[in-house]
Amino acid sequence: MQSNESTRLVCSILAMDQSCFSYKVCRFCETPVPDDTPTEFICNNRKCGGRRRSSKRLFRLLFSIGTETRVMNVVAFDRAAQVIFGCSAQEFFDFSILHPCAGNKFFFLLFQRQFNHGVCVLVHNTVKIASKVLVGELLKVTLNTPKRGKAEHLRMTNIVPMSSDFEPVIETLRKVDWS
Ligand SMILES: [Zn+2]
Repeated sequence: MQSNESTRLVCSILAMDQSCFSYKVCRFCETPVPDDTPTEFICNNRKCGGRRRSSKRLFRLLFSIGTETRVMNVVAFDRAAQVIFGCSAQEFFDFSILHPCAGNKFFFLLFQRQFNHGVCVLVHNTVKIASKVLVGELLKVTLNTPKRGKAEHLRMTNIVPMSSDFEPVIETLRKVDWS
């Protein structure tokens, strides 16, 4: 595809990268901030000019998708990703923190002591389940070539699940027995 071209196609999800599902931004100007930025921070972006702002998470999901003829690595950003997750990245993150798996009580204790490490482990459980339920899902999507030359993945936008019994990830997670 040439730059700024877009294609509509039907594909199925072959895999989802479980190592990263979101990134943090300033809630006001949506400039990306480091992952360890606290909920309240001073945003030095020009739009915010050093004001106190809060941070939030946006989705950035890496998928491997397959069509009849090829396999591609694509990235889905916030708006598109919300269609398959059924919630915002922040809600998904908060849900993950509140629902440690039964087998991972140990990590929950660890989480209370070593905040960052624990968060990774806890969120990883729900990301793993999300990946499991999404693999094989048939989607009608638009693929766009990256606007910036440096971005390596095609962008997957306008995601429409094809299956009549499709259920957003968060709905599936809510049915899991977390006790
Ligand atoms: Zn800002």
